[in-house]
Amino acid sequence: MEYPDESQVLQSIPVEDEPAYVPPAANAAPNGGASDPTLDFADETLEFDPEASAFTRAAPPPESLAPYRAKLTLGPKGLTTVNDPVAKKILYTMAQVRVELIADKTGSDAFKGTRKDNPYTFDNATSMLFGGTSRIRGILVEALKQTIGNPTHRGQGEAILRALASEPQCRVTIRWKARCENCSVKKTATTPKKDVQLLGERNFPQKADKSHIPVWQCKECKADIPAVWEVVAYLPA
Ligand SMILES: [Zn+2]
Repeated sequence: MEYPDESQVLQSIPVEDEPAYVPPAANAAPNGGASDPTLDFADETLEFDPEASAFTRAAPPPESLAPYRAKLTLGPKGLTTVNDPVAKKILYTMAQVRVELIADKTGSDAFKGTRKDNPYTFDNATSMLFGGTSRIRGILVEALKQTIGNPTHRGQGEAILRALASEPQCRVTIRWKARCENCSVKKTATTPKKDVQLLGERNFPQKADKSHIPVWQCKECKADIPAVWEVVAYLPA
């Protein structure tokens, strides 16, 4: 698989929506699931939290405490390519960025004592151009103040890998999101894409204390969809 003539491709790739948001997979096995009888478990005794429920999700961090300070690392899916199987060419690269929130806009660690781990999510950033720039370039140049050697898809992929290896920090704004997978439809040759979703914390049901309930009832199938959060923008540290 070869990169096409990059100067051509940067102008001719059709603008499409960002790849679908992928919520964090808590049980992802980065090293594969094959069992090896010579291996032993690292932790024999697990410390279960008697208060914890496996079926309720912690509320996303409040949007009002953004921009959050965040640590960026490469997610388990790493750097991949999106290919054109007919032309046998790489169309663009995609980096799975793990975004971990480490402090809120006041500089305090907003999560200490309220949850065991800092909130994190995965962001699929691509080298595809939108309005003359790309999400990978935005992270590198606008937020991390780094440079891209070669203005190509390959150059962007190599630059983001280099940058994430040092676990850089920046600030991020976030957005709550609930999307009904049952009622949303992927684009096909004959049908347009349909997103049945709710965006933005302020649109979720409000409690008496003005905070918002992190669950949305799908307006079509009435299923209760837990809210997740996604990165809207990356800002300098
Ligand atoms: Zn639905």
